[in-house]
Amino acid sequence: MSGDRECDLLIRGALVFDGSGGAPAVMDVAVADGRIVATGEGLTLAAGEVLEAGGLALAPGFIDVHTHDDMAVFDRKTILPKISQGITTVVTGNCGISLGPTPLLTRDAPVPPLDLIATAEEYRFDSFGAFLDAMRAAQPAVNVVPLVGHTVFRARRVADLTGPASADEVAAMKADLGAALAQGAAGLSTGLAYPPAKAATTGEILSLVRDVAAAGKLWTTHMRDERSGVVSAVAETIDIARRSGARTLISHHKCCGQAAFGLSRTTLAMIEEARADIPLDIDVYPYTASSTVLIEAFARDSRKVTISWSDPHPEMAGRDLDEVAAEWGVDQAAAIERLRPGGAIYHQMDDGDLERILAWPPSLVGSDGLPRDRRPHPRLWGSFPLVLGHYARDKGVLSQAQAVAKMTGQTAKVLGLADRGRIATGCAGDLVLFDPAKIRAVADYDNPQETSAGIARVYVNGQLTYVPDDGAGALAGQLL
Ligand SMILES: [Zn+2]
Repeated sequence: MSGDRECDLLIRGALVFDGSGGAPAVMDVAVADGRIVATGEGLTLAAGEVLEAGGLALAPGFIDVHTHDDMAVFDRKTILPKISQGITTVVTGNCGISLGPTPLLTRDAPVPPLDLIATAEEYRFDSFGAFLDAMRAAQPAVNVVPLVGHTVFRARRVADLTGPASADEVAAMKADLGAALAQGAAGLSTGLAYPPAKAATTGEILSLVRDVAAAGKLWTTHMRDERSGVVSAVAETIDIARRSGARTLISHHKCCGQAAFGLSRTTLAMIEEARADIPLDIDVYPYTASSTVLIEAFARDSRKVTISWSDPHPEMAGRDLDEVAAEWGVDQAAAIERLRPGGAIYHQMDDGDLERILAWPPSLVGSDGLPRDRRPHPRLWGSFPLVLGHYARDKGVLSQAQAVAKMTGQTAKVLGLADRGRIATGCAGDLVLFDPAKIRAVADYDNPQETSAGIARVYVNGQLTYVPDDGAGALAGQLL
């Protein structure tokens, strides 16, 4: 700030969703030096810029609690899918997959699903701290909360990934984890549904998660089973959470495959009961299709499978798996074998479960977007506007105020970010100005790479970061 200014930016007459979940109210918000310095009606501070909100809504910048943006944050272009939705903070390193430390100690290539986020060349950081140093130097456009992934530790330290780790291997992983936590990891993620981590015993996970708890950090988990065995996977998660004492977040909670439809009634009841005495939360993305690497079992109980990328057959991205198999004159399994390494979009969930999980008051919103995919799942570009537009405003599954809270205040609380996720004096100037009547996801399964409608301006730490149809914008993100 300079001269007679009392603030850098004064937004006047916005319908403010403050992130608490309470009803919105029209007020003014002043920002100076990257922070909110005043809120209220009729503020008269001398401002560098005055913005008349004129019917637009103002919310805390959205926090995408579940991302695979470890590489994407390095470049404004690859983080555009997020800032164009109003997202100002991303949690990286989910599902056991993080860019640092390198998983390639004794292996030449990243074992799937580690290939979802980076190539062998991109997995170049000797330590988690080196990854964070590079990110700081690159100056990301969004704030980053970085998790470190258990599957990376397994790839580094466990000789036979199809079996449980030996005592020595567990000790080596614990040393890696201790280093990453000391260097700035916000917590540990696990991806127990994936082959390289499936064989990890409850004891192996508990041993690592106890260290996370001792450091006062977060454990997020892509559970062992999100299909017909989802109830026992939730039970295992609650058991580890209770015995370790770690703050725990179940990632992208869902029930996949017809045999699992309706089980969210049971799982939410279990989670609700556990929440009475342990810090346990869940996040969800607002789609009935999942997306990850090509896995036969996932394809088998899907209504439809769309190829999202394939190294040997890049031209097949966007094609229907069964059509490709028919063209090749092979069965689904053989087609998958030919397409690997690759990924897919699996239509395999029920609307009833999705809406139940989304409407459940404590659930948080995360995108789980895959920024490297040639033909990505639309959740990468559209998750947050889809919740605010389709699910809140149009379908009434939840209110827009509740939706905003699931993207901001509730999330900041789970992440321990005391000065984010709310519009209040002293909080960071992460803000999104949007039209509550027009906000809408434009990206869909047919056209997945479209910016959303109804987002007017996005500020990160007080700096203007995104305006539609304008390539410019600040790089003002911080490592949190
Ligand atoms: Zn996952």
